[in-house]
Amino acid sequence: MDTERLISDVVKNVIKKLEEVPQSNTADVQLSTVSESGQKAGAAYAKTSSQDRKIVCGVSVRHVHLSREHLDILYGKDYEPKTLRELYQPGTYAYEEAVTIVGPKLNAIQNVRILGPLRNKTQVELAKTDCVILGVNAPVRRSGDLKGSASVVLIGPKGVVFLDEGVIRANRHIHLDTEDASYFGIKDNEEVDVRIGGSKGLTFNNVQARISPDFKSEMHVDTDDANAADIVNGTLVEMVDASCITSILTQVADSNHTPPSIPDGSFASEITDPNILKSVSVFSPLEGKSMLDSKSSSRQNLAGSQSGSRKIVITVEDLDNYMESGIKLTSSTILSPLARDEAVKRGIKIM
Ligand SMILES: [Zn+2]
Repeated sequence: MDTERLISDVVKNVIKKLEEVPQSNTADVQLSTVSESGQKAGAAYAKTSSQDRKIVCGVSVRHVHLSREHLDILYGKDYEPKTLRELYQPGTYAYEEAVTIVGPKLNAIQNVRILGPLRNKTQVELAKTDCVILGVNAPVRRSGDLKGSASVVLIGPKGVVFLDEGVIRANRHIHLDTEDASYFGIKDNEEVDVRIGGSKGLTFNNVQARISPDFKSEMHVDTDDANAADIVNGTLVEMVDASCITSILTQVADSNHTPPSIPDGSFASEITDPNILKSVSVFSPLEGKSMLDSKSSSRQNLAGSQSGSRKIVITVEDLDNYMESGIKLTSSTILSPLARDEAVKRGIKIM
């Protein structure tokens, strides 16, 4: 236990902060105690009670930003996506359109929303749980920092994209307008600490501040972080200064001291989320080969137990073939969400 070091750290740093504050302002300095144990004393607020001004938090559910090139492949040349809803950040919106994502485990997640506007490079943002389902090892990255990030296959109604890189877990970040940024005394790209209240309350470290006059102040976390802290869209969060606690690197115990994991079949047995499909296989309509084959790690998966269970993806393009016979859904067919809607529209029977 490093309790002693922690306490001495906190005390040392708090005293330092107190010394920095001009005498007349000492009344503003607050020491908020977070837990009864007293082990983690809250930040020393040298600034004017920064906890008075709260920032709204938005939860980023898994989503994709597409390039024009990839939208052309997935939805057809020059396809114009339709805006479903404006998002909180000015100039950003959710499209009506969605894609299906397949990873090397040959599981798929359907109905992954496309966000606008289009970007120069396609970027897929997933939570760790999504990565576990798909079998991808997506790094935590700042938006746009995609070099060497993870790969997946994207399926749209008109085609399939093997995305060599562009899959990330977005870092925690907080959009600040310039007024709030100067209020908190924060510079662009500085990393800050943000505290969330409630029974699952916690302090998020390493939150990247992104400052622009075009932003509305809003923190963004993925669904895993949000669930851990019981955050919903609109939860108010507080900027804190946790610099009184020395940051530490991630450490992992040696094998003798690593707790055994609880055996768990949840990802191997039935998954009830209708957006999650299991044991799919994706074929490029043009090349007639599995898109996932181009990754050696996934080739091993394909060669394994999955090889007997190839699945067919039915997209809008294929619907004509089913006009007469109707679509027979078996365990080896996937009907893309759009194809399903379109089939219903055209009166094609789905069995
Ligand atoms: Zn954001």
